[in-house]
Amino acid sequence: MDNKISKGLYEEAKKYIPGGVNSPVRAFKSVGLDPIFIERAKGSRIYDVDGNSYIDYVCSWGPLILGHANDDVIGGIEEVVRRGTSYGVPSPVEVDMAKLIVEAFPSVDMVRMVNSGTEATMSALRLARAYTSRKKIIKFEGCYHGHSDSLLVKAGSGAMTFGVPTSPGVPEDIVKNTIVCTYNDMDSVKKAFEDNKGDVAAVIFEPVAGNMGVVIPEAGFIKGLREITREEGALLISDEVITGFRLSYGGAQEVFGFEADITCFGKIIGAGLPVGAYGGRRDIMENLSPIGPVYQAGTLSGNPLAMHMGCKNLNMLKNNPGIYEGIEKMAIQIEEGLNAIIDELRIDACVNRIKGMLCLFFAKGPVKTYDDVMRCDTEKYSVFFREMLNAGILMPPAQFEGWFLSSAHSDEDIEYTLVECKKALKKAFGK
Ligand SMILES: *Cc1c(COP(=O)(O)O)cnc(C)c1O
Repeated sequence: MDNKISKGLYEEAKKYIPGGVNSPVRAFKSVGLDPIFIERAKGSRIYDVDGNSYIDYVCSWGPLILGHANDDVIGGIEEVVRRGTSYGVPSPVEVDMAKLIVEAFPSVDMVRMVNSGTEATMSALRLARAYTSRKKIIKFEGCYHGHSDSLLVKAGSGAMTFGVPTSPGVPEDIVKNTIVCTYNDMDSVKKAFEDNKGDVAAVIFEPVAGNMGVVIPEAGFIKGLREITREEGALLISDEVITGFRLSYGGAQEVFGFEADITCFGKIIGAGLPVGAYGGRRDIMENLSPIGPVYQAGTLSGNPLAMHMGCKNLNMLKNNPGIYEGIEKMAIQIEEGLNAIIDELRIDACVNRIKGMLCLFFAKGPVKTYDDVMRCDTEKYSVFFREMLNAGILMPPAQFEGWFLSSAHSDEDIEYTLVECKKALKKAFGK
């Protein structure tokens, strides 16, 4: 694989951008490579500046459920641009977008648009704290909710439930209000509530964890969270930045049958433009400025271009439920194919899949908690990633990420991917 131009660009980029990238995972550091620079993408394919093409399983980390540059989604975008790119006063398409989200999620009566998932979760926490007049929040180790201070926290050592910052620059003073619990472990949540009686404003969680690979909630986990938050007077914040409109049109709440107090969105609702949103019960949302005292704003929030593309994405999904069946079918095909390879090669690997979300863990299953995830052999994953890239397949450049499918992936893509997976796994495991 020739990638001279990418290498040159990377050297140039490093002079002007920290690490040469605008989001760390793009540096391909955890797979020991230099990044490829992309020139264009269409459907399931992404093309680098060196003329290589890849079947793409990153899909911009989730927004592109209909594939790259889907004609129905980008259609009419020039006309929209000609009418202006931002107004700073309301426009009709913002109402269309809000309606689509509210209609898809019964727990959401009102929604506020922001510019990223990070903003959505950060603002949701502020709202929850204001609504409950409490300070503390509970999150789970391995769940990612963007990079705001309160959420850049990992579990402290041993039996400590208080979090420690995962990044320098996050003050201890902020982090002391974040309690870190264990995903799929209700006992850890019960203990956190007991230890912090009357202080917990909210529990924030990913209903399917999608940022430590894909980890599926065990039976009773979500129900347990819903019950304990109700009993304790805390809010339940469902971070559906990945699962919203991906797990199904109604997200994880439709699939698992629960209603969150506040739901966070991002990724798919922007179709690849910078968008996030948070919504919930009317009595909660009405605390937001300008009708309530809780301040939150954004110069580009509800941007007409982003709203236009996002509405197109959501309308396509709403009017074509077969898209979800198709993506799930492909995910099952990959799961079964990988499981057959794992059995045949007798290797320590396992697949987690739910609906159209899946990933391959380089560890013996089952993988149900963050500790399970941490057992993965990331060295072997790096070998796998490099072999796949050489074969023209772009996998997530880190073990702890989901594989993102789109409706643009074809049966041939999946078949070819499985053939190459077998070769790459043989190499990675020295078989
Ligand atoms: C991606 C992601 C976020 C952060 O969204 P950004 O748009 O990257 O700020 C938050 N929560 C979850 C579950 C995510 O996957």
